[in-house]
Amino acid sequence: MIQHDALIVGAGLAGQSAALAAIRNGARDVAILTKVHPVRSHSCAAQGGIAASLGNSAPDSTESHEFDTVKGGDYLSDQTAATILAENAPDTIYELEHMGVVFSRTEDGKIAQRPFGGHTSPRACYAADRTGHAVLHGLYEQVMKAGVKTYSEWYMLSLVIEDRQCRGVVVMNIDTGEIETICAKAVFFGTGGYGRIFQTTTNAFASTGDGAVIAYRAGIPLEDMEFMQFHPTGLYRHGILASEGARGEGAYLINGKGERFMERYAKERMELAPRDIVSRAEQTEIDEGRGGEEDGGAVYLDLRHLGGGRIMERLPQIWQLAHDFLGIDMIKEPIPIQPTAHYSMGGIPTNTDGEVVDDQENSVVRGYYAAGECACVSTHGANRLGTNSLLEACVYGARTGRSIARYVLNGASDKGAEKALRDAQARAVEYVERVRAMDGPERTADIRTEMKHAMMQKCGVFREEKPLQELTGELQELRARFERASVMDRGRRFNTDILETIEMDHMLELTQIVAAGALARQESRGGHSRRDYPQRDDQSWLKHTLAYRQDDGTPALRYKSVEIVKYEPQERKY
Ligand SMILES: Cc1cc2nc3c(=O)[nH]c(=O)nc-3n(C[C@H](O)[C@H](O)[C@H](O)COP(=O)(O)OP(=O)(O)OC[C@H]3O[C@@H](n4cnc5c(N)ncnc54)[C@H](O)[C@@H]3O)c2cc1C
Repeated sequence: MIQHDALIVGAGLAGQSAALAAIRNGARDVAILTKVHPVRSHSCAAQGGIAASLGNSAPDSTESHEFDTVKGGDYLSDQTAATILAENAPDTIYELEHMGVVFSRTEDGKIAQRPFGGHTSPRACYAADRTGHAVLHGLYEQVMKAGVKTYSEWYMLSLVIEDRQCRGVVVMNIDTGEIETICAKAVFFGTGGYGRIFQTTTNAFASTGDGAVIAYRAGIPLEDMEFMQFHPTGLYRHGILASEGARGEGAYLINGKGERFMERYAKERMELAPRDIVSRAEQTEIDEGRGGEEDGGAVYLDLRHLGGGRIMERLPQIWQLAHDFLGIDMIKEPIPIQPTAHYSMGGIPTNTDGEVVDDQENSVVRGYYAAGECACVSTHGANRLGTNSLLEACVYGARTGRSIARYVLNGASDKGAEKALRDAQARAVEYVERVRAMDGPERTADIRTEMKHAMMQKCGVFREEKPLQELTGELQELRARFERASVMDRGRRFNTDILETIEMDHMLELTQIVAAGALARQESRGGHSRRDYPQRDDQSWLKHTLAYRQDDGTPALRYKSVEIVKYEPQERKY
């Protein structure tokens, strides 16, 4: 059995920030475990920027950042969490800069800032359109310098919680296929989002929501899972992201008739309204027959008026992506785009110290922590503003790393964990062997394609009771078919077939939770938009969803209150 004081699962911005902060605050034995190489974590793909009210391009304040976040989240954010996010943003950026992260600059040498949707000042600090790459590599250098033990290409299979105390995890060394247990006084999840459950998504192959499902199966409820953000500018038919930074730089959205249609939906903020509003506007244009391309399924992002010089300096990566995937030179032509699943607002519930909580009273599960996209401290509420999630991963990752250091230095013990861990290991071995032996007539790839299509069609930008009910039935059928699927590769070493089958098992579980939350929530708020209940309903629905796994595998929904501190809910206009 492997042993560490603190185990950090996930090497994105949340995981690496947590590991560094834990070490800098005195924890000695901290290890990171990740299923992909650390710098292949999805954080690396982030393009447009990271928010902070530095005020380098126009006057700004932390209060304004805080309010924009709460309003952007359609008042479902827990307000202390949003305050902490905004207040810690400037120092976080300076710290990253001191670590060596190279940000783009203004003429006079300050960190440059561009406008982003829903932010009232230009607040996005960026490194061209490769911000995540710059920040993740900067942090990784520090993690290597600190000599953090890293289990790279190790896959977490399960989490062990006993008497509301976390004991460790069961993992597979992907290279050898061996299954091990890791006993830790503190376990942290920074395992990212679950965008891959949708057909069209910006998310990396690894964003399959493993951490959330593993927590759920260990008895932790999942919060606000029905709130998925659809980003307005995915490359048409690919879903690959064209950063909101493009609109931040001044790009227009036009429909098939060449009209700047945002005038009809957000007169003041136009293209820079929050993402939920812009995605709904696009989908409405498409659904009402004003889309473009041969099937009318796209609208366009038009950058031509920005000129080649500015495009190549500020947005070189998206020029390249449009060129490689669509064969389009965006200096000369608009790019066809569509809404694409992007960000998971919900996740593992935590308090503002990153401690996982498991009930309506926010009771803490000892030794278990989470931050970043897999978690729900609920800064983002029902809709995250662009550039707030890199920030959240860094701010709450580091904050949680400090809590972990306090916990392991203050006498946390891992005594008596052995039996529970050994039992969990035996169950994991049995599970993986069951997957290895799968030999039915169904192909996992077909089930995956159908699942993603069904989620996109029936639980996408717009939702409605009847399609959601149909979806619930379809998902149950897909689950039954999955039980009759087969695995082709039965080997031990680097068996991606088995891993993808396990990820598929996770995604099927997640789809049920998302669909159940969406069906139950009879209102429209942020990223959750019901055609049959088009209004926000604070009377009945100003509350967080908590989904608990029942013995028969289906989710039971409960609700907990939203923390309102400074900002009473108002009508949300842009
Ligand atoms: C294309 C794209 C562009 C974006 N652009 C921006 C932007 O400009 N600004 C912004 O604020 N946000 C942006 N976002 C969102 C932001 O990048 C993410 O929310 C954030 O980076 C998530 O960081 P994380 O550390 O929580 O998770 P991730 O970076 O996703 O890392 C997850 C980690 O968990 C590990 N892991 C997962 N499951 C397992 C398992 N079973 N076993 C072992 N390890 C596991 C993975 O290996 C990985 O290391 C963007 C997202 C995408 C997809």
